[in-house]
This record gives sequence, structure tokens and C-alpha cells, in this order.
Amino acid sequence: MTAEATAPEATAAGPSTAAAAPPSDLLPTATGRRAARVVGRYARERPGLAVAALAVSIASAAAGLIAPAVLGALVDAVAEGGSIGGFLLALAGAALLAALLTGLAAVAVSRLGETLLARVREAVVARVLHLHTATLDRVRPGDLLSRVGDDVARVSESVTTGLPEVINAALAVLLTLLGLGVLDWRLAVAGLLALPAYVLALRWYLPRSAPMYARERLVVAERADGLLGAVQGAETIRAYARSGPHAAEVARRSAVARDVGVGVFRLYTDFGWRMNRSEFVGLAAVLGIGFLLVRGGGATVGEVTTAALLFHRLFGPLGTLLFSFDEVQAAGAALVRLVGVVDLPDTEVPAQRPDGSHRPAVELRGIGHAYGDGPPVLADVDLRLAPGERVALVGASGAGKTTLAAVLAGALDPTAGEVLVDGVPAAGLPGRGLRDVVALVSQEVHVFAGTLADDLRLARPDATDDDVEAALRLVGARWVAALPGGTATLVGEGGTALTPAQAQQVALARLVLADPPIAVLDEATAEAGSSGARELEEGAFAATAGRTTLVVAHRLTQAVRADRVVVLHAGRVVEEGTHADLVAAGGRYATLWTAWRGR
Ligand code: ADP
Ligand code: MG
Repeated sequence: MTAEATAPEATAAGPSTAAAAPPSDLLPTATGRRAARVVGRYARERPGLAVAALAVSIASAAAGLIAPAVLGALVDAVAEGGSIGGFLLALAGAALLAALLTGLAAVAVSRLGETLLARVREAVVARVLHLHTATLDRVRPGDLLSRVGDDVARVSESVTTGLPEVINAALAVLLTLLGLGVLDWRLAVAGLLALPAYVLALRWYLPRSAPMYARERLVVAERADGLLGAVQGAETIRAYARSGPHAAEVARRSAVARDVGVGVFRLYTDFGWRMNRSEFVGLAAVLGIGFLLVRGGGATVGEVTTAALLFHRLFGPLGTLLFSFDEVQAAGAALVRLVGVVDLPDTEVPAQRPDGSHRPAVELRGIGHAYGDGPPVLADVDLRLAPGERVALVGASGAGKTTLAAVLAGALDPTAGEVLVDGVPAAGLPGRGLRDVVALVSQEVHVFAGTLADDLRLARPDATDDDVEAALRLVGARWVAALPGGTATLVGEGGTALTPAQAQQVALARLVLADPPIAVLDEATAEAGSSGARELEEGAFAATAGRTTLVVAHRLTQAVRADRVVVLHAGRVVEEGTHADLVAAGGRYATLWTAWRGR
């Protein structure tokens, strides 16, 4: 986890810098420009929302300019001996308007931000669901998890809390500077004299803050760790009269955490002091130049008052911007990691509906496989399935059955050999290759949240209600009739929970709807208890009837009904023939069969 945990810091050098080529076992990271383009595209999908958020934010920032202007006019009016009643009313009105618009702007920006984030999340999940197994095998699992977990959380947090404030502050700064310029360009230039001081403050703060905060997190964790260890082991510690040293260790770690905490606070106040210095430089310049202007008759006291108030108004938003710099950077670093996932090459080609009438021959030629640097789990596997033939794969746990099934289904690229369909190597097949002609039902089936019918339509979006019901009937899912809403019942997370056997039947019904010419069943019936297993076995048999089928048989009754049985041992095919032949041969399969019958 260490590498993943430090990744945001590593990229925090700036969301706008080009992405470095990632190590091959990490998912790619997008550039800042690319991320901005993707988010911009999503924003254009909701033009009303985007324009509204921008308009209200600008209006809110502009409303903040009214009060300083009114106050300046008031000063001039007082100097000339006029009445101030109207000004006071205007001030109250301006305050109300500004409050209202600020609230509206926060709502609009949050809504836009949440909508965009939802789009990014959807895109990430959609891409992750379609990642090729080879990619998934290659990347570190922690990298993917930290992206869909931590990175999404980080962006989400800044969208809900920081983003509205930051946008508000940025617009306020922009419009205030504009207002200063409109008022008198010489006063605006005076204000800009503060800029170098601000830059200096930021350049002092940024390189210190990230390591400081990281260290604070670390020492606080160490303190908690030490305390927990001592509390959990209190009995033992007391029994061995070791409480002295342990208490000392806890005290030492607490002292370190305290010192670092004080250090963080000192850093913070030092930065605050540097900010104040910048403010002083700017305000002093505005007042100084204003004095000269008023003396020379180039401006009124009221105008200079407005300018000073406008400049003073910058302090709050500028502080917000500078203090949230870290957070914005971290959120940006998380965002480019998310967009990196979105941009992974699309392996999804519009699925061609396989022609259901043709039953192809499948051939595995010299298949070998090893996971990563591990030992070979498949070696020299040659296996031919004739058109429409049903082959049962039998073997002890760990023999390599699941691996072989995944290779045949195109879910796993073997490290040696190739799969041929009707003599064509998988690499030469059109579309998504094997995945378009083979359906795999594995033990780990997932029921997606939604209606049961929608779940089945994952396999064929244009399936009618009749198709859906027929598929469920074919696989023997009689329990559907007992559901409160039939196939319209919500299932999966938040809906009716399905038993593992029912989930298996849903997966089988999906296979029926997808209607692939080749089917691979991996332990599809192993989940159920003995009574349910029989039913599942029937469902699996019906769902695969007429297809070229490889079934990983855990119940040997499945092997009995197959056209041919293949016995796998330690990654190699050791026996092959019909059930009767193999029983008669008295080899490994015969032993398994005797054991199975005598259960
Ligand atoms: P079976 O389905 O016959 O039980 P598997 O194909 O699941 O056998 O596993 C064959 C061997 O490969 C086993 O030794 C197993 O530990 C190993 N193996 C399976 N999946 C992985 C994986 N993802 N990474 C590393 N080793 C694996
Ligand atoms: Mg297995």
C-alpha cells in the first residue's frame, strides 16, 4: 500500500504538468490539460447547469462590489455635507443581495460539481468493468482500488466543500481587480504591487507544507499505534513488570506528535504573517498613491476609500485561495488519476450478435499458463471440441480447470499456445475476439442492482419481456413467479437478495439471452446444496444444449452426460474419453467415479 499512499504526493508537483510514463504495473495518469478537457466535455453535456452556475457565481462576486462603491460615494457625500439616509438603505440592500446570491452560487456550483463528478465516476466504473483481464492481471490491485476508492473520495470531498469556496474566491478576486481597474487604473497598479509579496509567501509555504502535513499524519498514526499496543497488551506488560518502558515509549511518541503539531501550527502562522505582509504592502501602496492622487486632484477621497475597501475585500478570498492550494492540488492529482482510467484504450467494439445457428469447432493448441512469475499452472494442453460437442473437464482442486476455462473464454491470455475457433486463431477473430463468441458462467456470478429483467438485459439490451421470461423458464428459475413484482422486482444491492443458486440461474439465463455459439461453465452447479444442485444442473444442461460447450464438472453426473470427459492433473491433460471408456480403463477418473458414487 505504501506506493499507492504516496502516489498523490508524487504527482502533486502540479496537475498541469504532463504525466510521466507510468511503470508498467500502474494504470496511466492523464495530463492536467486532458483532465480539464474531459471535465469540460461533461460540463457541455449540461449547458443549462454550467451556464447557471457561472452566471450566479459572477453575479454573487459582482454584488460584493456594491458596498465599497456605496461607501466611497457616502464619503464624498459627507465631505460635501449631503444626507446619508439613502446610502444606508443601499448598503442594507447590497448586503441582502450579496448574501442571497452567495447562497445561490454555492448551491449551483455544488450541483454542477456533483453532476460532473458523477459523470467521471460513471466513466471510471464503465471502463473498469470492461477492462481486459490481461490488464487487470498486470496492474497492481491496490492501484485500481485506490483510484475507485480514495481518489473518488478525495475529488468528491473537494467538490462538496472546497470547490464552491474556491470558485467564489477566484471570481471575487478577479472582479475586485476589475473593479479597481475601472475605478482608476493607477490605484489598480498600486494594488498589484502586492503580487510579488504574495508569490514569495506561496513559494515559501508550498514546499514546506506537504511534507509537514504528511509527517503530522505519520507521527499521529505512530502515537495511536503505540497507545493501542500498550492498552491491548496491558495484561502482559503488567505481568512482566514492563509498564515503565512502555509508558516511556508512549510518552516519547506523544512528545514527537506534539512537537510536530506545534510545528504545523507555526508553519501556518508564519504563512499567515507572510500573507499579512503582502496585504500591508498592497494596502499601503493604494493609500499612498491615493493620497498623491487626491492631493493632485486626480481622484476624490471617496474614490480612494472605495479602492482601499475593494483591496481590503481581496484579503478574505485570497486567503481562501492560497490556503486551499494544497487541497486543490491534491484533488487535481486525484482527478488526473481518475481520467487516466477513463482514457484506457476501449476494448469494447460494438458487439456483433453471434449467429446462433452455427456451432463452431474450438481448438486449444499447446496452451500453457503461469500467473505472473509463479509456477506453470497449465502446460501443453491440447484439446479439441467438435461443433456442438459437450466436454466435461474433471480434476482435483488446483488442477487448473478454472484457468483453462478462462483461457477458452478469452478472459485470460495464456502465456503459451493459442485458441482457434473454426481454425481461426483468436487474435484473428473480428470484434472482441473470443469474447464475442464464448460466454463464460463462473462461480463468482454477480447480481447487479436493478430489476431482474434489467439484469438479464445486460446480456442482450433489446430482449423483450417474453424473451427474458422464456430464458428464466428454460433454466428452471421457478422462484421468479414467487417474487412480488415478477421480473420487475428489484434485486441485488438494495433489493431482494438472491441465493447463490438463484444468482447462478440468473447467470445461466443471461447466457441463454446472449445466445453464444460456445459456452464455458465453470463450477456453475457447485454452489447449491444437493437438492438445488440437481435443478441447477438441469438448468445448465438446458442453457447450453446445442452449443459447443466446456463444462467444469464438480458433480460427476455432469461428466456422465457429457459427450467426452477430459481429466486435468497438475495443469496437464492426463485422460480423455467417454465416461464409460474412462471407467472401464480403471485410471484416475475411475477412482474419482468410485469415490463419487460411494459418497
Ligand atoms: P482449479 O479450478 O482446477 O481448482 P485453478 O485454475 O483455479 O484450478 O488454479 C490452478 C493453479 O493456479 C492453482 O495452483 C492456483 O493456486 C493457481 N492460481 C489460480 N488463480 C491464480 C491467480 N489469479 N494468481 C495466481 N495463482 C493462481
Ligand atoms: Mg476452479
